[in-house]
Amino acid sequence: MALSGAGGEKGAIENGKLTAEAAGAKFVLARTAPRSPAELQKPPPGAVVLLPYEPGKAPSLDEWTNGAWQASADGSMTVAKGDNLTKRRFGDFQLHLEFRLPFEPQGKGQGRGNSGVYIFGLYEIQILDSFGVEPEVHQCGAVYTQTPPRQNACFPPGCWQTYDITFRAPRFDADGKKAADAAVTVVQNGVTVQDKTPVRGPTGAARGKPEVKSGQIRLQDHQHPVKYRNVWIKELKD
Ligand code: MG
Repeated sequence: MALSGAGGEKGAIENGKLTAEAAGAKFVLARTAPRSPAELQKPPPGAVVLLPYEPGKAPSLDEWTNGAWQASADGSMTVAKGDNLTKRRFGDFQLHLEFRLPFEPQGKGQGRGNSGVYIFGLYEIQILDSFGVEPEVHQCGAVYTQTPPRQNACFPPGCWQTYDITFRAPRFDADGKKAADAAVTVVQNGVTVQDKTPVRGPTGAARGKPEVKSGQIRLQDHQHPVKYRNVWIKELKD
């Protein structure tokens, strides 16, 4: 792609490099993509592989309830036609997942690369294109509508990002009354954005639903072609 400026500047974007000449000087900028230290992390012993990752191979969607989501030869699964739930239920757990957001420059706010990890279908850890914005309760890394991320750890859209989520389910007494809130730690791209954050109750659209001690993991369809890959989960014992 050729570039030109009103002052006679010229350049090109080719093979991952931007070369340009302006005011008698030449420069070259290489395309860079940040990488998470947790990218392609292997499942530990005892983990359930929810979405196996093998480069060049479409993953099996056997662990998921919504067959409309697309498995691709790049090893990923893409959001389509409704939320997608795990077939299995989990209590306390450690979850690893990787996501890649589409580049949607026309979108604004919640309309760019929106998806989410709905724990038990009740508590959403937001997934959104929040690159470069102020952390708040609707942004990526937030416990949606409750707690903003401690800092913005987002990569630009088009990069693979990682979530490592450690979740402690709410506790109930003998009468079924909640004795302790759920708590969540979220590490995004190697940065702790939630640290044992109490989850006071269901978030966003799930508000008012009864809380439970175990449930499915639900990935949100918010009509954005977000990709997921290398998803595994390990149950944690007290
Ligand atoms: Mg969402």
